[in-house]
Amino acid sequence: MSDDAPRLQQPPTTPSLWKELVPASFLISLRSAVSEHVEPVAEQTDREDVYPVRAIKELARLGYTSLTLDPAVGGAGANSRRALALFEEVSYASAAVGISLITIFQAQTLIKTFGSTELRDAVLPRFREGLLTSYALTEAKHGSDIRHLDTTATRFDGGWELNGRKSFITSGSAAEAFVILAESPAGISTFYVQADCPGVSTEKTTNAATFGLRNGPHVDLKLDRVRVPSQYLIGEDGRGIRQALTTLDHSRTMAAGISLGIARAAFEGALRFARTRIAFDQSVVAFQGIEWYFAQMVTAIDSARLLAYSSADCLDDHIDIDRHSSEAKLFGSEVATDVAARCVQICGAYGVMESAPFGRYLRDAKAYEIAGGSSEILKNTIAKSLHRQRLTGETE
Ligand SMILES: Cc1cc2nc3c(=O)[nH]c(=O)nc-3n(C[C@H](O)[C@H](O)[C@H](O)COP(=O)(O)OP(=O)(O)OC[C@H]3O[C@@H](n4cnc5c(N)ncnc54)[C@H](O)[C@@H]3O)c2cc1C
Repeated sequence: MSDDAPRLQQPPTTPSLWKELVPASFLISLRSAVSEHVEPVAEQTDREDVYPVRAIKELARLGYTSLTLDPAVGGAGANSRRALALFEEVSYASAAVGISLITIFQAQTLIKTFGSTELRDAVLPRFREGLLTSYALTEAKHGSDIRHLDTTATRFDGGWELNGRKSFITSGSAAEAFVILAESPAGISTFYVQADCPGVSTEKTTNAATFGLRNGPHVDLKLDRVRVPSQYLIGEDGRGIRQALTTLDHSRTMAAGISLGIARAAFEGALRFARTRIAFDQSVVAFQGIEWYFAQMVTAIDSARLLAYSSADCLDDHIDIDRHSSEAKLFGSEVATDVAARCVQICGAYGVMESAPFGRYLRDAKAYEIAGGSSEILKNTIAKSLHRQRLTGETE
């Protein structure tokens, strides 16, 4: 074992792998921003369940919240690999900050992909200034199945009136604007709604606190005769489900990055502990039973990372993305939960202490097997894509 120890000292993110995935210069600046602005607030954000406003505003100031937007609207025009690296690195320090970014990216994806020129021009440049947004699909009676909703959208001359209540809204406690789904006469449609619009309010219900991914209470969003102008309908009336699927393809790829960050943080923390903890006159990591755990975990993390980066490439190349993003999130979230649980075990009593971060890793990892598309729904999506495909040799 002693000969092998120096090799184990490398982080699971092997430098050779990273060099091929994103430029080192990008990663170095990103890690420095994370250690300055995200790491210091990670523990408090989780413990107090507060939205990490300052961290997100600092990331916005440095251009990270508008990373993939077009330079014409103040973005950096970066590809999905860099966005994925952003999610992994931020979530290595705090998955709560990671999901705060996800809800911003979801609103951007919807507006830049489907929004009218007027809406794009009015809203997209605001992300560079730190606009905070949420994406509200879920209702008390409609979670995985959003084909029918109780929130309604009815036309009036010059716009739309929205009525209803959305539940479990990540970042909703701080959002300055929401993108919501509502049922209109043509079907499910998507709307942009500013938080300061008359009739918009949020409520912290008894269900608002989650045990993981705590970036402030997951509030209910109440829409009481909210009137928005016509251009706040995003894309075509009745196309909300298709738009949601496209948006989730993006955010599920980034969610895989969040899970990777959690897994890597747990792995490295446990490795540091196991190297220094002595039992039976040797370091804990030197027991074969323990080093095999690390070997298995690093293999799973590297595999999850390759799947996630392949999904990022598919996003940019528009290849079978529903399948690849679902695979990346399904595998990544399960790896993160397994790794976090294993790391608690490796660290013994230290692993279960509230002062140690492993409980947070485990809670965040598990919550991401449900949020943003549960593992069961992802398996349905992957299976559907297999049914679409013909096997070699099959004919029409
Ligand atoms: C931390 C967190 C953050 C969230 N943030 C947001 C947010 O920002 N915006 C938002 O709109 N929503 C948000 N949600 C809600 C989330 O999207 C839903 O919880 C999720 O879609 C699952 O819906 P549900 O909880 O109603 O479960 P249900 O849909 O009631 O499902 C219950 C169980 O049945 C399974 N199931 C359902 N349908 C099928 C099927 N067809 N095949 C097999 N199994 C199935 C599910 O996988 C689950 O295990 C968040 C949830 C969490 C936990």
